[in-house]
Amino acid sequence: MRIEVDWTRCDGHGLCARLLPEKVGLDEWGFPVIDTPEIGDDLVPHARRAVGACPALALRLVPG
Ligand code: SF4
Repeated sequence: MRIEVDWTRCDGHGLCARLLPEKVGLDEWGFPVIDTPEIGDDLVPHARRAVGACPALALRLVPG
């Protein structure tokens, strides 16, 4: 699985970085920075929680 941000929706709330700090950092404006989007099996539950919590519906998990 990979985690992706829909930049047309992201408002820079930063919640994703708090819920998935292993994968998501924040830039100086509070927008997510994802260096390696691949999500290992162990992190999928955390990634799903972050996707579900994004208030802008901007985060998604996709196969691959
Ligand atoms: S929680 Fe959603 S809206 Fe907020 S920074 Fe992350 S992807 Fe963007």
